[in-house]
This record gives sequence, structure tokens and C-alpha cells, in this order.
Amino acid sequence: MEPTTPAPGIPGCQFASDNTAGISPAALQALSDASQGFAASYGDDAWTTRLSQRLREWFETDCEMFLVFNGTAANSLALASLCQSYHSVICTDVSHIETDECGGPEFFSNGSKLLVAPSHNGKLNPEDVRHLVTKRSDIHYPKPRVVSITQSTELGTVYTCDELLALRDVKKSGNLRMHMDGARFANAVAALGCTPRQCTWEVGVDVLCLGGTKNGLPMSEIVLFFDRELAKEFDYRCKQAGQLASKMRFLSAPWLGLLENDLWLSNGRHANACARQLAEELSKIPQIRLRGPQEANAVFAEMPPRWVAELHRRGWRFYSFIGSASARFMCSWATQQADIAALLRDIRDVAAQEGGDPSV
Ligand SMILES: *Cc1c(COP(=O)(O)O)cnc(C)c1O
Repeated sequence: MEPTTPAPGIPGCQFASDNTAGISPAALQALSDASQGFAASYGDDAWTTRLSQRLREWFETDCEMFLVFNGTAANSLALASLCQSYHSVICTDVSHIETDECGGPEFFSNGSKLLVAPSHNGKLNPEDVRHLVTKRSDIHYPKPRVVSITQSTELGTVYTCDELLALRDVKKSGNLRMHMDGARFANAVAALGCTPRQCTWEVGVDVLCLGGTKNGLPMSEIVLFFDRELAKEFDYRCKQAGQLASKMRFLSAPWLGLLENDLWLSNGRHANACARQLAEELSKIPQIRLRGPQEANAVFAEMPPRWVAELHRRGWRFYSFIGSASARFMCSWATQQADIAALLRDIRDVAAQEGGDPSV
């Protein structure tokens, strides 16, 4: 059989996305340990109860959690629970809910409209949100109900707590709810160096879609409600959408493995450090321009199209359509020094052979 995971340092899809990595060993061990005998189904098991408690300790508040299989479901169902069909959700034009969920949020909310604002390095600007909320108040306009932000953002940046506080002010004055797409929440917390509570409910987040997949789980994300009133009947939504796992312990147990010894945080830190290192080295290559600040685990680089084609020909897989950069390199918990070194070696080699002006 063909090996599916390339050995470190061999071209492949290591940098295409953080969801190309395998399962973090402690999570895999916890998954395996949970496969002992019989346990109650649909979440009535000891692992799920324990996870629920751990999340309350972790976020230092009485939150309510729901496990789903992926991020599209987490975001779509969370937004559906915040909106009536005539409401709207304010997000950036590069947000995952706008560009990568195939209309899931609109579908599950029976038509709530996404109102997009221009992204500033992946972030929502409070003034743009305010404008969208106040520019119309008549009955013909889809009533703004939610401000949705991604942390860390689709462009690899991280909202500071002050930026989140500014959004909270707009949220309050516009009587909105705040949804956070935290597919890469661990990378954001690692970058900010704050506690989870300081960058979520303390700054106005009502619902967090907490990412596990990209942080080292086989699958699953958590929809975490800080306002328990909003969580009412959310279990029915999950079930109807096909997101209620019957063997839920196998979603919960790996999460416990990730939370043990703050592995989630070290995984996030590791991925961020790899991206920092890659960004530093790429910035020394004259024909390469980095796009936006590297703050989490992504590096966006502008390089001549010929280079991109040549790197792809050599077997490197990375996306060229995200943001406006010609290459996005994503690091994960599993990125190794040898991977970074091999990628840089090939890029320098292509640079030496091709030369070139990045604008061509
Ligand atoms: C990966 C990702 C998701 C989740 O995507 P799924 O493929 O549905 O699991 C959600 N939001 C962002 C910003 C992501 O990068």
C-alpha cells in the first residue's frame, strides 16, 4: 500500500493545512483507552461528563458544551441557534462561514443572511460593523443579530483582547450576539498568552466553536455556550442535523487527552513557532514578500507564479487561493524541523534557478 503520511522532510501536504496532520499521540491513546467494554451512548458516558466538567474549569465559567463532528456543523448550528430566519450575521469577506461552508449557516438558519465587511488582515473592523448595524433600521433590511469573528483568523492573524473589547462595545450598542469561530482557538491563545476566559466570555463572546481537529484530534469540534439560555434545545438541532454521535465517548475521550497537561496549548505553541521560523527564513529571500503579519500558525507569501508551479511539481502541496497571496503555508502540531528545512531548501533552490520578480 502507498504510505499516506510522508516521512518528515519529504515533499507532500504537510503545509497544505493543519488538518492534513495525524492524531496527537495523547489523544490517540485516550481514544484507545476509551475502547474498553460497554458504555452508555449519546453522551451519557463518563468521558463526556468529565469533558463537560473540564471545560467549565478550563473556561472558569458555567458553560454548556455540545460535541459535533466538524467545524462547518459547529458554525452553522451555532449561528442557527442565535438567529431567526430574518436576521443577519456580520462577518468578513474571507470568513470560513462566508467562503467555505457551502451555505451551511444560511441553510441551517432557514435563510439568515451573511452581511460581509471587508477584512483587515482577516479581522473585522468595529466601525464597519457599526456601519452595517446602523445604516438601516427599516423592515426591509435583514436585521443584524450576530457579529461573527474568527480567532485566529483565516489570514493567520490574531485579534488582541483590546480589539475584541472594541467589538464588544459595538455588539452591546447594536444589541448583537457574538460568535467566535475558534477552529484555531489554541493557536490564538498561544499567541496572546492570555487565559481562555480572557479572550472569550470576558470580552463578549456568547458562543465559541472550539476547534479540536486542527489541534490534533481525529475529528470533532465543540460548540460552547457561555450564555446557557442560548443553548436551549441545541441538542435537538444537533440530532436533526446528523451531528449527535451515538458513540460519543470516542469524541470526548480524545478531547480529554488533549486537555491533559495542556497539550492543546503546547500543540498551538509548537505550530505557531514553526510558522514564525518559516516566516523568518522566507523573509530573507529577496523575491518573496510576506503578506500580513505572521501571528499564528500560517505564513502567507507572495512569490512568482513560476516558483509556485515548480514547488508543486516537486511535490509540495499548499494552497494558492486563500487571501491574496500566492502561497499559504500552514504549520501544525506535527510539523517537524526536517519538514521546514526541506521546504526551505527547495524554495531556495527554485529561487536560485528561476530568479524572478515577485510581481510577474
Ligand atoms: C478548518 C476551519 C473550520 C472547520 O472546517 P470543517 O472542514 O468544516 O471542519 C472552520 N473555520 C475555520 C476558520 C477553519 O479554518
